[in-house]
Amino acid sequence: MTYKSEKAWKRVKAFYRSFTGISGGYSTTHRILSVDKLSKAERRFLTVMELSGQWKGRTLCIGVSETANGWTDGKTYVAFNRDYLQRHNPKYYEGAAEMVTLAFHEMAHDTDDTGSHFHSIEFYTAYHDLTRGNALYLIGRLPDKMRNQKWQDQAQEIAEKEAKKKAQRDKALGITRVVKKQVAADSDLTHNPTKKVVKKLVRRRRRF
Ligand SMILES: [Zn+2]
Repeated sequence: MTYKSEKAWKRVKAFYRSFTGISGGYSTTHRILSVDKLSKAERRFLTVMELSGQWKGRTLCIGVSETANGWTDGKTYVAFNRDYLQRHNPKYYEGAAEMVTLAFHEMAHDTDDTGSHFHSIEFYTAYHDLTRGNALYLIGRLPDKMRNQKWQDQAQEIAEKEAKKKAQRDKALGITRVVKKQVAADSDLTHNPTKKVVKKLVRRRRRF
């Protein structure tokens, strides 16, 4: 993950921690999944969506439900059904359109929709207002953003693996130990004579 996406992810992660305290109160038909249960692609989807910054303080998450494609408490989170996400891959325009309009649908709910699922005239007005203007630009950008994020994640993984390998190699060769010893030895010296100086000192001593 890049620094930017990692930062965004930390925000999501923090929410999960606080969410565990209240999740007990929700219907058993809707369950939010913790971060460690999500696949890389699912995390990537959340990160990319979060970065678009259109969710007015609601955190995006992924869960499982037998009855809903998405759900919300109307103020703090919007959840996507894992199965629905799998069936509508946001790497493609069709999937992106399904997922983005679902997100705005949930955003238009200002009350918990896990119990009764009713769409009032206020709901339709809110949905209209939320999707007017350029809000749906995300449908056109999501496939590219998902791909870019994947490349960034892969580059980051390779860099981390290389760093780990190098650390292991250095350890095996004893380089870390030798360098540390050398630094420690050097730092003890107030004067570090070069070979030439040492020879001179030896010569001078011989003259006496
Ligand atoms: Zn609804």
